[in-house]
Amino acid sequence: MNKPSSPSVLIAGSGAVRAHPTRGGPCYLVTIDDQNLLFDCGRCAVHNLSRFGIPVESISETYITHLHFDHICDLPLMLLLSWNNGRSRHMPIFGPKGIGAFLENGLRQAYVADIKSRTAHGKSWDGLDWDTHEIAKEGLVRETDSFIIESLATKHAGLLNYNYRIKTPSSKIVITSDSEPDPRLIEFCRDADLMVVECSGTKEFYDTQAWGGWHMTPEDVGRIAREAGVKKVVLKHLVIESFSKDPDVSEKMAETIRSLHPDGEILVAEDGMLFDV
Ligand SMILES: [Zn+2]
Ligand SMILES: [Zn+2]
Repeated sequence: MNKPSSPSVLIAGSGAVRAHPTRGGPCYLVTIDDQNLLFDCGRCAVHNLSRFGIPVESISETYITHLHFDHICDLPLMLLLSWNNGRSRHMPIFGPKGIGAFLENGLRQAYVADIKSRTAHGKSWDGLDWDTHEIAKEGLVRETDSFIIESLATKHAGLLNYNYRIKTPSSKIVITSDSEPDPRLIEFCRDADLMVVECSGTKEFYDTQAWGGWHMTPEDVGRIAREAGVKKVVLKHLVIESFSKDPDVSEKMAETIRSLHPDGEILVAEDGMLFDV
């Protein structure tokens, strides 16, 4: 691999499924050299990318973790708007089986009148279209001169579900999906410089929710991060904030993780955070 400039990671959406005054849905942008790699495209992704100075037409490739709507609801908008703004090549989209059907139904069919209208007035179809790469099994997803992207499949709500690891010659970044705790995440996150990890709530909170078993607790995250030797842990997908009256609930989860992994730096994500890795 060529030695790229140091990658950066922008938290474009630190929240989860519910509307939140300061947190967009899942969306993270990894920039390596001049490549903008988008991971998930949830609620407010397009709006937040604009707020943080990223034109949607500058996105080079898109990676989707799973097909829960909070992770993909802005994907049709991102494709339509980048087309509108002048994107002239197919967007590569990597994700689980079903992402192609989602875009056929949720974009090509759903917006058939719009597409027909614009292409009839000279807009090139090519700029709207996309190339779907449905990931059949975990492992190597993409390899270029500058980076390698690998996936790990973990359990989450009965869906095909991929966590992503981005490696450059100088850095290792993990962006988890929503996930049940899985001991294989330890090896996947081994010596990572940055782990952007879901921490949707505490065990006490999950016990009150039918879907509580789909996610990781602070204790799960702390154990995985410590055993993997992760340097920086950034908590995202903070569902509990939409239920708890405690304004410090996420910081308290971070404190639990610090007690388990005192050698790591543990942060609660905020929209707009930018990390040079
Ligand atoms: Zn989610
Ligand atoms: Zn999910």
